[in-house]
Amino acid sequence: MVAGSVKTPEEAVARIAYLSSDVVISVQPTLSNASAFSSKLEELSSGGVKGTLTASNGVPEIQTVRQNADPLLSVFQPARSGKLVSVTATSSILLSSIPHLYKLINYPVVIHVSLQPSDFPDYSEITSIRQTGLILLQSESTQEAQDMAVAAHGLAVKTGKAVVHFFASSSDDSEISNEDTVLLGRALDRAAARTYQSGKIVSTSLYADDGVVAQTSNSIASVAVGTNGHASGLVTPASEASGIEPSSNGTSTADENSTRPSLTSIGSLHDAIESRPISSDDIHKHASTIFEVIKQVTGRSYNVFEYTGPRNADVALFVFGSTTGLFRSTIKRTPGDDYSRVGVITARLYRPWFGTKLTEVIPKSISKIAVLEQIKKKTTKWGPLFLDLLTCLRTGPALKGAPVVVGHQLGFITPDTASQALRGVVQNLKSESPVQNLSVGLEGVPTDVGHSISQPAIEAAYMKILDQLFGKRLHIANSLDKPNAGISATITASPEYGYGSLLARMERRQTFIERVENLAKSNDFTTRIPAEWLSKWLLVADDESKSGALVPGIIMRLMVDGSPAAYSLLSDKDLFYKESHWLIGSDAWSYDLGNSGVHHVIASGKNINMLVIDSQPYSEHAAADASRRKKDVGLYAMNFGNSFVASVAVYSSYTQVLHAMLEADKFDGPSVVVAYLPYNKENDSPLTVLQETKKAVDIGYWPLYRWNPRGEKDEKKFSLDSERLKKELQEFLKRDNHLSQLVKRNPQFAANLSGSYGTEVRQQQKRKAKDAFNKLLEGLSGPPLTILFASDGGNAEGLAQRLGRRGKARGLKTLVLAMEDYPIEDLSTEENLVLITSTAGQGEFPQNGRNFWETVKNSTDLDLATVNYTVFALGDSHYWPRKEDKHYYNKPGKDLDKRLADLGGRKLVDTGLGDDQDPDGYQTAYSEWEPRLWKALGVDNVDGLPDDPPPITNEDIKIASNFLRGTIAEGLKDESTGAISASDQQLTKFHGTYMQDDRDLRDERKSQGLEPAYSFMIRCRLSSGVATPEQWIKMDDISNEFGNQTMKLTTRQTFQFHGVIKRKLKSTMQAINRALMTTIAACGDVNRNVMCSSLPQHSALHAQAHEAAIRISNHLLPSTTAYHEIWLTDDDDKKVQVAGDAIVDHEPLYGPTYLPRKFKITIAIPPHNDTDVYAHDIGLIAIKGGDGKLSGFNVLAGGGMGVTHNNKKTYPRTGSMLGYAPLDKIHLVCEKIMLVQRDNGDRNNRKHARLKYTIDDMGVKVFKSKVEDLLTWKLEEARPFKFHSNIDTFGWQVDENGKNHFTFFIENGRIEDTPEFPMKTGLREIAKVHKGEFRLTGNQHLILSSVEDADLEGMRDLMAKYRLDNLQFSGLRLSSSACVAFPTCGLAMAESERYLPILISKLEGVLEESGLRHDSIVMRMTGCPNGCARPWLAEVAFVGKAFGAYNMYLGGGYHGQRLNKLYRSSIKEEEILEILKPLFKRYALERQDGERFGDFCIRIGMIKPTTEGKTFHDDVCVAPPLFFHPSKSGAHK
Ligand code: SF4
Repeated sequence: MVAGSVKTPEEAVARIAYLSSDVVISVQPTLSNASAFSSKLEELSSGGVKGTLTASNGVPEIQTVRQNADPLLSVFQPARSGKLVSVTATSSILLSSIPHLYKLINYPVVIHVSLQPSDFPDYSEITSIRQTGLILLQSESTQEAQDMAVAAHGLAVKTGKAVVHFFASSSDDSEISNEDTVLLGRALDRAAARTYQSGKIVSTSLYADDGVVAQTSNSIASVAVGTNGHASGLVTPASEASGIEPSSNGTSTADENSTRPSLTSIGSLHDAIESRPISSDDIHKHASTIFEVIKQVTGRSYNVFEYTGPRNADVALFVFGSTTGLFRSTIKRTPGDDYSRVGVITARLYRPWFGTKLTEVIPKSISKIAVLEQIKKKTTKWGPLFLDLLTCLRTGPALKGAPVVVGHQLGFITPDTASQALRGVVQNLKSESPVQNLSVGLEGVPTDVGHSISQPAIEAAYMKILDQLFGKRLHIANSLDKPNAGISATITASPEYGYGSLLARMERRQTFIERVENLAKSNDFTTRIPAEWLSKWLLVADDESKSGALVPGIIMRLMVDGSPAAYSLLSDKDLFYKESHWLIGSDAWSYDLGNSGVHHVIASGKNINMLVIDSQPYSEHAAADASRRKKDVGLYAMNFGNSFVASVAVYSSYTQVLHAMLEADKFDGPSVVVAYLPYNKENDSPLTVLQETKKAVDIGYWPLYRWNPRGEKDEKKFSLDSERLKKELQEFLKRDNHLSQLVKRNPQFAANLSGSYGTEVRQQQKRKAKDAFNKLLEGLSGPPLTILFASDGGNAEGLAQRLGRRGKARGLKTLVLAMEDYPIEDLSTEENLVLITSTAGQGEFPQNGRNFWETVKNSTDLDLATVNYTVFALGDSHYWPRKEDKHYYNKPGKDLDKRLADLGGRKLVDTGLGDDQDPDGYQTAYSEWEPRLWKALGVDNVDGLPDDPPPITNEDIKIASNFLRGTIAEGLKDESTGAISASDQQLTKFHGTYMQDDRDLRDERKSQGLEPAYSFMIRCRLSSGVATPEQWIKMDDISNEFGNQTMKLTTRQTFQFHGVIKRKLKSTMQAINRALMTTIAACGDVNRNVMCSSLPQHSALHAQAHEAAIRISNHLLPSTTAYHEIWLTDDDDKKVQVAGDAIVDHEPLYGPTYLPRKFKITIAIPPHNDTDVYAHDIGLIAIKGGDGKLSGFNVLAGGGMGVTHNNKKTYPRTGSMLGYAPLDKIHLVCEKIMLVQRDNGDRNNRKHARLKYTIDDMGVKVFKSKVEDLLTWKLEEARPFKFHSNIDTFGWQVDENGKNHFTFFIENGRIEDTPEFPMKTGLREIAKVHKGEFRLTGNQHLILSSVEDADLEGMRDLMAKYRLDNLQFSGLRLSSSACVAFPTCGLAMAESERYLPILISKLEGVLEESGLRHDSIVMRMTGCPNGCARPWLAEVAFVGKAFGAYNMYLGGGYHGQRLNKLYRSSIKEEEILEILKPLFKRYALERQDGERFGDFCIRIGMIKPTTEGKTFHDDVCVAPPLFFHPSKSGAHK
């Protein structure tokens, strides 16, 4: 025994299974619900415990499989590859696994099965598999379970046969100790195991001869004789050791002389050399031997049959159930003679059945045996064990004098009822003619709920959509929450069951219709009214919408009628609806067993809808075991030809799910909707599910499509709703001649269809590219120099390219490649190798160097003895300010250097470490490193080197673009790539669109050899964020048709679309123009969208400010005709006049080079600073005149947000006050400010090009005078004003004209539908009836503006219906905003929009506790320091630094008037929470009256105030302690 107690049989079994296997298949009810075995398995596995037989002594592998996902399928692949496999499961898997069990006979697999239900197990699950040919071993207590688990593994290894070890899980069992592994060492035949592990079994036959037919080996067991006192002494029955005593009269047990194998024979087993298939006698022999080993080591004795009781017994109970121990103890406890001659028999080894051995075990005196079988659902008159006994005892020569066998059905027995039950059995036995098939104990109690199947909560997404769509009409036949008396959940969840129940339901409705018909004709109602309504209904009973519309009326009339006839109909009122019939299944239906039910439904041709939810993650599929391959249910149904089929994924396209379900419902016949919802655990976060879904859909593993075999025209049969199609479908469609038409209609599919490149192809491409290049170099004479780079931002690549050019100029044969494009097998043949890498994230390699590094790092056979190498690394020594993080600085470069040296490489020169903190950044170190390299290569003194060509700058691109044309039009026509050229990428920004790629998919696509998933972000120009309802609907359409079905309301009050692919770009632009909007100058180095406070309560003032915003915007619009030419021409290149056209290409304001950088203007109307007036190049503060109207603006200039991490030359800045200008001249003031910037801004350094730096460089005074010079008049003194907040006011407000406005809370501006919240649909419905306008706010929210009183009620109802009126959020959430960041923004270093809501949820508990739930605290987050959500004006802000890590800023002004300051660098969630939680508590306790959080942080000394942009980097705590508790340690001064 070893330390550690075991509480349950499952724990004991799990441990033995783990120690004796290579692979344990742990079957669980669901992935997040552990089984009784799995926690032990996980504990051992996570502790790194090694198995005793595991190949190469490793840690056994645990594979978790869901109970309903055909778990035994998982056994074949490892078993066939020579792995010792065991399974831990409940008995509920056995029946459906019978086809597999036959195939497993010849594998040494052990299946440990705990019988269910645990309180009253049903042994019929065992008797049902008795004919499968498996060895069946039984145990009843925890101790027995542990011992028999050892025996099961011993037997499996020794015989090469599959063993099922079954046991009842008893809750009142006592704890035992872990068995010493010495026992395992002796019971498991290591040599036999190794023989099995060393060979692979190739057969994948369907038949029972799968596996290997085990032969007997020459060594059966190594049992030492007489090593302990038990070997030749009396046997201690296992029952004794497990607390159950043997017979009370002290007689010795019968097995002592009979069934135990002869010790002498065991001792000589080493000599037995045989070579023939294992026979059942061999199994008996091996079992006996292993039992003997157990006895020798533990003292506990086991036998094939076990008898306890007196030697002179005259009757015996043969128990096949969970209460053997109870009978034994009752017999022992009962005084007197009642049971003094009653014995108890059990079968330890139930199969093979060694009936002949039974007579050797039981005393000859026994004349009657009661067989007690715990079988709940009897299917035959005589129980299986009864027949077994009858066969062996009462046939053949044994018949004479053999005991009479009396069958009993064993019910539920408790210690209280055991005595009574025993008395009944014994009395029956002793009667002259015993009654056969007598029931003993209670029937069928209690039921077990522990192992029912439940639907994982995550799958509720699809249920919610069904509910939304069909409401009362929805009828789910196999819903798991419906009670189905007496039928197990496993059965009710099956398609067959659902199918049958739906047929019954259909019949019921038909009968109901007939009943209604009769009643409508009768006089059974009190009045005629119900009959009239019913007659109307009968005409439309099969039309779902018409009949549905009548139902409420009918129900009301029937209730009013009150007659018995009316009540009888009301009792079935659901049947008035033409129901939408659904069967819901999981991917268990995609395996053979479930699939047969699916087949039934499809073949029936009935109008039944099936929703099959597939939850296997795409990444898991990639590594999937071939023998677990699932059927493609969708493809199967398509092949059948009579079914509507759709493949959907709610996390990819919500709208497509809606379409598919509606079409399925409409289709008169079977419909199959296969729905994707990948997760590893049922509690996976939605973000994980979303990312996994995207990969699967993008790669074509899970294509989105709809197939209607009765489509009106052939070509309408198939709609491909995602971009790519998987191969199987492609083949199906090819077969189906409709494909040709599909391809004709959408020729781009043809390319997509065959667009799946394998990794091998990619390898070949690499090789070809390199070989071709080598050929090219053959003409050159100098030594070779291979330069490999890994680069995220382009600096490392730029350096590598330049080094390559310079090398070539020195006569070297240079080759420059990204590390990922280099065929790594050539590495050891290189002569001179230079590696240049930048540093990503937490000291990681950039994306295009990761695989290279992994291979180099893990390679064991790379020999670089003949390779000269050097490394240049780029990093930032201050990026990670904490001491413990310093090692991240230039880590990839340093790692490479060390590894290459370890592999034998010879250093050309020492590694160069470029540091962003050096005076010239990385160039400082580089300019010192490069000459050393040339020297080492002997090419340092070369004359006549050409000058490096100057780098192409944005300014060059603008000049060469011919007023923003570039080669955009040509690039759009190039269908070979989803991208456009680098210079066009700069130019399209001026047209309002950026090229991006989906970063969630980068790795996956790269591994598939595909270019990144390029798409475009399109930003509209929408002055002051006002849109009509018609425009809203058109924007909604555009997002559905061309984008990713969501819209982003931006921090600059406009619509932004993501995910528009290149070939849809032009159509999208045209659709936007048709909505009377434009995108020109929405991005780029021009004046962008002009913002304006949304101000719902002062409509007149707002109207005037809005007019000013439009005037400024139009005044500063670029004049180029390129926009119209590129985007708004039709396919014949004829110009389409959509929203006006310019005449000539001349930019009177901008000139050919436009502005040095972007330029932003905003208007704020006090007291609301909801547009962050201080954060823009020009901020205009509206000033009211004495007449209450807008008179003019105070003008701020030089605000701006974007900075670069750790570059102190960059900083955010609040605008400087220049003075006041009247309303009618304001556009001219803006123009002149812009012109001063145009002519004075820094065009050499884009990081220093914004107006804020121009102003700081020349001083506010000088700048102002330049503006006034251009104006030719002076700005007036700024007028007084007061702001009181920069957030929105949510809910209803009434303006001075009595019109109503409602501000919706749109978290982070994302307009999308989710099953929980169909917000986008709701807003669309509102837009359909709204007569006023929509106003987008600068905080990314939305105002429903100008609702008349008369429309108020209808609007309120609509809002309530879609839950858009919900404003029950914490003040923190209402005041938060985040930029887009991942997955589309190319600059994002960390999550933002997808993460901030999660972070806030984690803080809300503390806010609630501290009484701050309703307090507004402005919190903002961005994924990078570009600062799109204006983080530096928030009271608390987080700016992405690396994936999962943020810089934290505190102390911003609540009105957006003061910048915040860096408080902590690169902290992760845990630290964020550790800082903020106590800080919020402290704020709640110590704040002064009305004190804002940002001000509080400054007052208590947490942070210094930032007085102006230039002091942003001062007084920053750069190396804070890891865990800083502000409440304890006081202030950081
Ligand atoms: S702040 Fe940075 S990460 Fe966020 S959207 Fe702007 S550029 Fe992208």
